[in-house]
Amino acid sequence: MAKKIIIAIDGWSSCGKSTLAKELAKELGYLYVDSGAMYRAITLYFLRNHVDWTDKHEVKNALDAISLEFILNEKSQLGEMHLNGENVEYVIRDLVVAEKVSDVAAIKEVRKFAVNQQQQMGKKKGVIMDGRDIGTVVFPKAELKIFLTADNAVRVERRFKELFEKNPNVTIEEVKSNLEMRDYIDSHREESPLRQADDAILLDNTNLTADETTQKALKLVKKVMSSN
Ligand code: C5P
Repeated sequence: MAKKIIIAIDGWSSCGKSTLAKELAKELGYLYVDSGAMYRAITLYFLRNHVDWTDKHEVKNALDAISLEFILNEKSQLGEMHLNGENVEYVIRDLVVAEKVSDVAAIKEVRKFAVNQQQQMGKKKGVIMDGRDIGTVVFPKAELKIFLTADNAVRVERRFKELFEKNPNVTIEEVKSNLEMRDYIDSHREESPLRQADDAILLDNTNLTADETTQKALKLVKKVMSSN
């Protein structure tokens, strides 16, 4: 059997990272970890509990009260985000959370909290994790790092379609400005900004279907696996 590896997928918001990661996980029988879900769940907790995240003590106390867990959904065979025992997989996708998540994810203590747990999940390898700092900070030694990208307009369209299915009141302008804001904050913050790791492979899927993107990535996986 091939030696298990770690696959890190980073990139801009809504360029298909989680779609790709889920497909690869299915193909390889690997564990998929959506690191963004962790930052979203922390943000949901902060919002619900009116945590002033500019105050270090409040942040510390709040983090002490947060327990995050991915629990397997038997039907989809994917882990769903649970915050203190509650399944929040769907509420964390809401624009209300998306509007604040990049501010919360820029906080040093929050990143330390999440990164520690992410690194634990990768201990046994056989993991695919997507996010913004997976190849640079969480798993700098990951055997395969993919930096996914796609044109802005394509990304906005994809996210809009996804959100519109759940909430027909959402507008394309809202989605566009949220993506632009998150990309700006994520790539300009002091703590672990989004950037392509030096050894990451750039994959632009502007003109590719989800399946074509998976096939390209699988070729990369096979190449790495055969040389490991
Ligand atoms: O991946 P997703 O869009 O769900 O991530 C939500 C937000 O969480 C990102 O916009 C970013 O602010 C933050 N994030 C991060 N580091 C990660 C994953 C997500 O800062 N590894």
